[in-house]
Amino acid sequence: MIPVTTLKGKKVALFGLGGSGFATARALVAGGAEVTAWDDNPDSVGKAAAEGIPVADLRGIDWSGLSAFVLAPGVPLTHPRPHWTVDLAHAAGVEIIGDVELFVRERRAHAPDCPFIAITGTNGKSTTTALIAHILQSSGRDTQLGGNIGTAILTLEPPKTERYFVVECSSYQIDLAPTLDPSAGILLNLTPDHLDRHGTMQHYADIKERLVAGSGVAVVGVDDSYSAVIADRIERAGGKVVRISRRHELIDGLYAKGSRIIQASTCAIAEIADLDGIQTLRGSHNAQNAAAAIAACLAVGVSGEEIRAGLKSFPGLKHRMQPVGRRGRVVFVNDSKATNADAAAPALSSYDHIYWIAGGLPKEGGITTLAPLFPRIAKAYLIGEAAPAFAATLGEQVPYEISGTLERAVAHAAAEAEKDGHETVAVMLSPACASFDQYKNFEVRGDAFVSHVAAIEGVTMLIGSATGGK
Ligand code: ADP
Repeated sequence: MIPVTTLKGKKVALFGLGGSGFATARALVAGGAEVTAWDDNPDSVGKAAAEGIPVADLRGIDWSGLSAFVLAPGVPLTHPRPHWTVDLAHAAGVEIIGDVELFVRERRAHAPDCPFIAITGTNGKSTTTALIAHILQSSGRDTQLGGNIGTAILTLEPPKTERYFVVECSSYQIDLAPTLDPSAGILLNLTPDHLDRHGTMQHYADIKERLVAGSGVAVVGVDDSYSAVIADRIERAGGKVVRISRRHELIDGLYAKGSRIIQASTCAIAEIADLDGIQTLRGSHNAQNAAAAIAACLAVGVSGEEIRAGLKSFPGLKHRMQPVGRRGRVVFVNDSKATNADAAAPALSSYDHIYWIAGGLPKEGGITTLAPLFPRIAKAYLIGEAAPAFAATLGEQVPYEISGTLERAVAHAAAEAEKDGHETVAVMLSPACASFDQYKNFEVRGDAFVSHVAAIEGVTMLIGSATGGK
């Protein structure tokens, strides 16, 4: 745990006692703050009280004496409307911060030189975060991985020189971290997402920009216009920017050329890594993630050789295009996280010959947007409630069967893939649907896929223990 010492002896209110909020309350108490915590859920309040965290309804406290109000990232700060505690804090003129802000203050106070990489973007955050942590860890560095990826930041080990922090930040966490100042910050990409919580695309982009604007080195994916403008603005303001592209060659920055990642500057152009053959980093979206990870690692002093070794041994994240087993030429891929068509597209783009397991609880629009990728599908195995609608979309274009259950789909796909003559064949669960008609969540669905694969005779499993938290 990282005890929050920067608010020692100060009065602090906290709202939101879920996972990270609870960890924050404990870290504040451990550091000597006078905390008053609350939640709308009486069970969470009871649990906190049982742990010795002082609790009281924040409607009844004196806000004028507070040094800070700490808000859990899940609680609305601005949209759709500020939470009632936010209104009370504003009325009393109390600053509103979150756990990432408490961390950066602790780092500044005790170990300002400790390398700190923060990652944000609309897509690819967890993959990039896990990849960076893996490169650092496998090169023997003391590495702490946390934030939005699943481990609350204040539950990590305290900052010290030579300890590396790799922290995934959601927009909500950035919004609550006014002095966020990582050694290297990454903004991967910006596309419309969570606009219910951020109002407009511009407001969403402005929040994300703050992470890289405050960074020692700003690593920015410039393939979308919002991020490209942000990179230019930071550079004009005198910031150090490393641009990333998976679509264009750059004069200065890192870009993907096929599977190769090229580092270009005014004085030299050189290949820094080749992702060819790295199963966990297939696809051009992963080239963007890998290029950003490489840039951030270089910024904190990791050598090219260490980076290349780390890329090669990256085990991937659970449920995201994760190769889980192999039998001969057939690789079994778990992409259970793909809960809509947009999320399934990168996986379908990453293999040429796919026995595709899809279906579940359908999302609006179905799989019509995936039509350009249909030629890659050798056969579809449809499960869950979406099966009839998906069958209608596939029509004459793609052979399919309605398998009904995941178990039957895996067995049938494995048997037919075995007879396929192509060099590499993927049996892939990338359902383009929510899981709730048949499973508790996408993780349980992915785990079920893995156990069905493990039950196939002659399969070599490619995974050991779980990787990644979210
Ligand atoms: P996040 O943490 O931002 O949700 P993940 O790393 O968990 O992102 O990846 C989730 C899904 O998003 C992946 O399965 C893939 O379909 C897609 N994805 C990953 N990286 C990118 C990227 N750089 N650009 C676009 N889509 C991506």
